[in-house]
Amino acid sequence: MSGKTYPYSAATALAQSLGKIDQETQAVVPPIHVATTYLRGTDNSYPNGRVYSRADNPTYQPVEALLCQLEQGHEALLFGSGMAAATAVFQGLRPGDHVLAPKVMYWSLRNWLLNFATDWGLQIEFIDMTDVDTLARHLQPQRTKLVWLETPGNPLWCVSDIAAIAEHAHAAGAKVAVDSTCATPLLSQPLVLGADIVMHSATKYLNGHSDVIAGALITARDDAYWQRIRLVRSQGGAVPSPHDAAQLLRGMRTMHLRVRESCSTAQFIAEQLEQHEAVAEVLYPGLPSFAGHAIARQQMHGGFGGMLSVRLRDGAAAAIHVAAHTRLWKRATSLGGVESLIEHRASIEGTGTPCPDDLLRMSCGIEDKHELLEDFLQALKTFI
Ligand code: PLP
Repeated sequence: MSGKTYPYSAATALAQSLGKIDQETQAVVPPIHVATTYLRGTDNSYPNGRVYSRADNPTYQPVEALLCQLEQGHEALLFGSGMAAATAVFQGLRPGDHVLAPKVMYWSLRNWLLNFATDWGLQIEFIDMTDVDTLARHLQPQRTKLVWLETPGNPLWCVSDIAAIAEHAHAAGAKVAVDSTCATPLLSQPLVLGADIVMHSATKYLNGHSDVIAGALITARDDAYWQRIRLVRSQGGAVPSPHDAAQLLRGMRTMHLRVRESCSTAQFIAEQLEQHEAVAEVLYPGLPSFAGHAIARQQMHGGFGGMLSVRLRDGAAAAIHVAAHTRLWKRATSLGGVESLIEHRASIEGTGTPCPDDLLRMSCGIEDKHELLEDFLQALKTFI
């Protein structure tokens, strides 16, 4: 399933789902396989290698092949959610293994690490992943087994230097896994930059329509660690339904158009709001004033993502009030869908969050960007 063979661009790969035609029916869209089990041959073997659907439903294959191609990986695995994919990476480790993770990361995964992974014996340290020297200081050669990155990192959009971190981590004997959900496979390819595993919440930009929960991992190579992760999936059973996998593939076929539009809107809104008197700070990797901009320019291509955060001068009350007065921006959690979402992020993250309480997280969809800006500005006016 190696992703280095398709000769066309990402746009063509996505639109045509790698140009695959169903051999049996000549259908241009692959079938949904609902069977949970497969026939044994009279010689007691499984002629096409499939035994039971929890491990290998054929509906996953086109999605996994496409992800492998986009990320230039060796193999991809679909999971029942982004969290299932991410936690499989940690479940592949052993008690006593040391892990470095960012202070700023998807809050639910951070909570899972604190609530479960530490109880099971992982030694987890949360550090500032925007600073390569800090990372280098915290690596424990041969004891640190995994460096987990999320870049841009939710919800402050901190940027980590994947190539530099991979170099240090590998020298210490650690693997690097990257949650690249918000960069998407179109803007950044962590495996090409030296990471070992890339993770996506496919619920977000890959599907793009806020109607499927799914996740994915893509590996640079097959090794003992990856085989263990593969077992976490097949034995633990955190797989998507075939119908969700098919719906995910349909969403992916327009991802390049959606991501381009979301990036363009986010850049426009970030630039406009940066000037506004009610705004204390705009956090967006595409702004030259943003701390991670230089690294983002090196490792992101074609845009800086569809996510931005805005901090309001008048604090939490203003942020909650503004979110309550938008009409087009829908007040909901999640991101990466065609509809734009706004969220007072500290409210959902709870205690221990690094998210300031004056911050609104905004996921830019594919609506008209001028209308989106106007809508936010009118909501802002109701507070001033
Ligand atoms: N990673 C990031 C950056 C996310 O934003 C999310 C969900 O919001 C996840 C992982 C978890 O994905 P899922 O909701 O599909 O489990």
